[in-house]
This record gives sequence, C-alpha cells and structure tokens, in this order.
Amino acid sequence: MTQLEPKSARMLGFRCVACDATHSYEPQPYRCSSCGGILDVIWDDERIARSFSRELLRSRRERNIWRYRELLPVESTRHLTPLRVGGTPLYTVPALRRRFDFESLWVKDDGLNPTGSYKDRASAVGVAAALDAGARVGACASTGNAASSFAGLGASMGLETILFLPGFAPAPKVTQLLVYGARVFSVDGDYDQTYDLCEQAIARYGWYNRNAAVNPFLVEGKKTAALEIAEDLDFEPPDVCIASVGDGCIVSSLHKGFHQLHSLALTTRVPRLIGVQAAAADPLVRAFESGEALRPLRAGSYADSINVGTPRNGLKALEAIRRSGGAFVRVEDDAIREAQRQLARGAGVFGEPAGVAAFAGLHAARERGLLGPRERIVVVVSGNGLKDVEGARSAVGSVTPVRAEIADLRQHLERA
Ligand SMILES: *Cc1c(COP(=O)(O)O)cnc(C)c1O
Repeated sequence: MTQLEPKSARMLGFRCVACDATHSYEPQPYRCSSCGGILDVIWDDERIARSFSRELLRSRRERNIWRYRELLPVESTRHLTPLRVGGTPLYTVPALRRRFDFESLWVKDDGLNPTGSYKDRASAVGVAAALDAGARVGACASTGNAASSFAGLGASMGLETILFLPGFAPAPKVTQLLVYGARVFSVDGDYDQTYDLCEQAIARYGWYNRNAAVNPFLVEGKKTAALEIAEDLDFEPPDVCIASVGDGCIVSSLHKGFHQLHSLALTTRVPRLIGVQAAAADPLVRAFESGEALRPLRAGSYADSINVGTPRNGLKALEAIRRSGGAFVRVEDDAIREAQRQLARGAGVFGEPAGVAAFAGLHAARERGLLGPRERIVVVVSGNGLKDVEGARSAVGSVTPVRAEIADLRQHLERA
C-alpha cells in the first residue's frame, strides 16, 4: 500500500458545530476551546483532488474503507486493520421493488461488517488514530455496537479496550465484547451516567477516547458508506438515502461523505437524507418538526441501538438533514418489527431492530409524500439481526412441534 501524506497536510483544521469557530489542526483539542461544542474536520479538498480521482479508485483492488484512505484521518498504513471493514454490498432487491412498487431501490447491508454493524467503520479509524497517537488503551461508553466494534477492531490490532455499558445492552452484544477480550464495566445507571463515568475515567487515566460524540475522527470513518454507495452507482448518487438515527453520527457521516465527493468534483449531486427515529425515542424528529431547540426525553423503544433520549450528535445530525433538503421521520416499534420481516422475507437481509428501522422509515416517508415516484433510493441497514435475538423473536411466530413420524408430519402438511 502506498504511503500516506500526514493527515495534518490533508486537513485544514476543525469547525465547531455549535458556534462555527474554526481551529487549527494541532494540538487536537477534541472539543471547541471557545464553547465546548463538538468539532468537525475541515479537509483540504483542493489539495486532495489533485491526486484523488476516479482513475485512482479504479486502480485499487481493496474492497474496504482503506480504499478511501486519503479522505480519512489516519497516518501510518501500519495501523490500518486487515479486517474487511466496509466494502459491504449494495443489493438491488428485485423482489422488494416489485412487492412495494419502488422502481429504483437498493439496500446497503452494513450488518455484514466484521463485528456486525456500521460502527466498524468508525472503530477501524478510531483504532488507527489511537495507534497513530501512540496509545495502548482505548475506551468508550456504548449501548452495544460501538463497544463491540471497538473491542473487535482493537483486538485485530493489539489495542487494549475498556468499555462501559449500561445495564440494558442485549446479551449477544455483551458476549461479543467478552469474546474479543475487552475489559467490560456494566454500570449501575442509565446511559447518561455510564457515559459520564467513562469520560471521567478517560480524563483520569489518559486512555484514547472513542466516544463518537467528542472524537471528530469517527464520523470520518463512517462517511465511507456514502463513498461506497456513490462508487457502486458509478458516481451517480441516489436521490434519497435513508438511515436510522440514535446519536446522529450515521446520518451526519452520510451527508459528509456525499458532500465531500461533490466538493472533490467526483459527483454532481448530494442526496436528500432521511433520518429515521423510533417513535418512543424521537427527540430529533421533534426538534426538526418544531424548529425549536433539541430537548432530551426519556427513551422507550425496543430498538436498543437507537433508543437514545439525549442524542450526543444532535446538532450535526439536524444540520446534515436540513442542508441536504431531507427530513426526519418517526416509526412505531411495531412498524420496525414489520420491516424486519419484510426485509428478511423480501430480500434475505436480516437486520437488528435499529438496523431495519430505516426500511420502516421508507414507508413512512412515502406516506408523507417525501419521495418522488421514480426517485432512486438507498436504504442503509446498519446492524445484523443476530445482534438481538430477543428483539427478532418478538417479530415472528413460533415453530411447529412434530413427532419423529411421517404420519404426524402429514397431519400438519395436509390438514385442510
Ligand atoms: C449506532 C447505531 C445506529 C444509530 O447511529 P447513530 O450514529 O447513533 O445515529 C443505528 N443502527 C445501529 C445498528 C447502530 O448500532
């Protein structure tokens, strides 16, 4: 793999999402020194465009996020995980198109990442950035997928991980962490308390901080999904891209990726983004609809990965959706269960509840007149169905018990 220019040469600095102040590249502050807001990387797209082109991409064989390494805040190619993060399929889903009468619909299955979720894109960059910074230990607070991806990708590169979980994380996700060898603290408190404890511990022990709300590099890793979608569609991005929303990092990252391709003159349009929240955890839908400030609420959806009452990246997400000309929509938990069956039965794609909420949002957006009849639409499935077996069981019927005798089986098969 070719060497990379230092990231300080490719980045101009940071912009504060809250107060718009700009900051130079070093030392990396994590939060705005004027107001404490979250920072966003400003790339030197003019410089990057001189060498980063469609031809360069065509010459690359790797099908993972490192194919876009010039657009990522990583430095030493020795710190890039060999696991295949990204490069996930964009399916044409013909049966779903027919069944629901969509002319041009694609499903991007990010549940096929190494640890089973979209979060792997962020964690791969987080691990590389931690190693670039000379860290040996990294930490984060998470309801599940951010932690399991950090544990798995950390393990692939020898970075030790320390993870803080609230009590309600689904068992398969917790098991994943332990199998990957992470040190796991299950905190007697809600997600906010868990998060605060993690930040205090990081301040005290100096571990690398993988919390997506404060680490501006993670969203950069996540934007690779947009780059892949555009490249898979021959640099003709879709009209609309739909993703589920918890803290707001995924939708922000999709916008950032599509926007950067446009800024690099590799594409000529930026899709409208539709962010989907569970009706029982919809603070961003409310803020979007009312035009008022984001107000935290008590979240109560079964879709754990988007069961977020205090979105940590809400401002970025609202800005991304507004700038793209898109919208936020809400879907009931039962519509998410329905979407889980529809995607699995109509496309063979089994996503976790938060992962398929985006597909439920597709129906909601059409009902609200947010989609044109012939528009090209991409739905992002952000997590694998096996991540939450209990959640999936609540969406389906049960098995048929049968004796080990053909006569009994016939009773079931041939009964009128
Ligand atoms: C984290 C997560 C989301 C939500 O992403 P945000 O960046 O928090 O908005 C959606 N689906 C899955 C499977 C996730 O793990």
